Amino acid sequence: MKEYRITLLPGDGVGPEVTRAAREVLEVVAERFHRQFKFKFDTHLIGGAAIDATGEPLPGDTLTACRASDAVFLGAVGGPQWERGPKRPEQGLLALRKALGLFANVRPLRIYPELVDRSPLKAEIVEDVDFVVFRELTGGSYFGEKKRVGDTASDECVYSVGEVERIARAAFIAARARRGKVTSVDKANVLETSRLWREVVSEVHARDFSDVRLEHALVDSMSMQLIRQPRAYDVILTENMFGDILSDEASVLGGSIGLAPSASVGAGGPGLFEPVHGSAPDIAGRDICNPVGAIISAALLLRYGLRLHEEADAIEAAVESAIARGARTSDLGGKLSCTAMTDAIIDRLHQGDSAHHRVQMHWG
Ligand code: NAD
Repeated sequence: MKEYRITLLPGDGVGPEVTRAAREVLEVVAERFHRQFKFKFDTHLIGGAAIDATGEPLPGDTLTACRASDAVFLGAVGGPQWERGPKRPEQGLLALRKALGLFANVRPLRIYPELVDRSPLKAEIVEDVDFVVFRELTGGSYFGEKKRVGDTASDECVYSVGEVERIARAAFIAARARRGKVTSVDKANVLETSRLWREVVSEVHARDFSDVRLEHALVDSMSMQLIRQPRAYDVILTENMFGDILSDEASVLGGSIGLAPSASVGAGGPGLFEPVHGSAPDIAGRDICNPVGAIISAALLLRYGLRLHEEADAIEAAVESAIARGARTSDLGGKLSCTAMTDAIIDRLHQGDSAHHRVQMHWG
């Protein structure tokens, strides 16, 4: 029997609550699919919990375990208690992404038809929205040289041709399996790195992906269009900082950040799968957070980390079905606890509901 090693990094705040939910769902999936495979879970420290225990946000044995696994699942890191310390929990996540060579952060956005009224946008704008953001994860100003000289600070923004090429290819491949359109977002009217970005994306397109439609957008205009006409987009491709901001903007369109999943993938080795939300210290430890973003991230882990497509479909279908039947946590205006929401999804998983909508996100 095939055994997949999954490293769980619950982290801080609501991280352990949503990680438990994702693990329970994965265990039921392994059971439901006739025990053809099993998961071996291994739990390790990251973030604030790791700082408290070891002094480091990414301890060596956590990284060793992640490297040796087939996929990594992360809950969330951070919290006010670590804000003033010499080491920040978020450094652990940045270091992990870098160490695993995860260059693409992929965030699909889907609107559950029954939750259209939870969106901050009008139903006629948000209905049928279905796009995915490809954010470059290892370059740009987050990783450039940081300096303080006297009363002046600077963050260097650096991109190489190779870094732009590999994420552009991933986005074009994804677009081919979807509706065939890529919107590349930059600030080419001002930034040299953006001019390089635009040139390289256009070259990759002309060379290998001329069957995909490509458009370029400036990030300031894009942040408006994402609210005005979100249905216009299929695959949104952008650099690290713009992607950070745009994907958070996108994540609220669905009605709650608690619904949003993400996958971070690289050229080989394990991918990292995590809900988009942070550690939500305001609601942590009360069993009221929404586990859906984490549970759908577990589906992405199966599909893109382990290539278990049918099993991933089953999770997405179970979530859809539970929501269609009225299961709601408090962020969605309901009364279910995190545990009860997870149980409602597991119940549908046992029933074997099939998906009527699927997030298309294939990149190779
Ligand atoms: P957050 O995502 O933790 O919370 C924002 C708001 O959304 C809060 O009101 C919270 O209660 C709500 N929320 C978040 N997840 C929810 C869920 N599953 N169900 C219901 N409601 C949910 O963002 P923040 O408050 O800006 O950050 C809190 C901490 O998390 C900070 O330390 C930040 O650095 C960290 N953070 C970590 C990650 C990560 O681990 N990937 C991402 C973002 C923020």
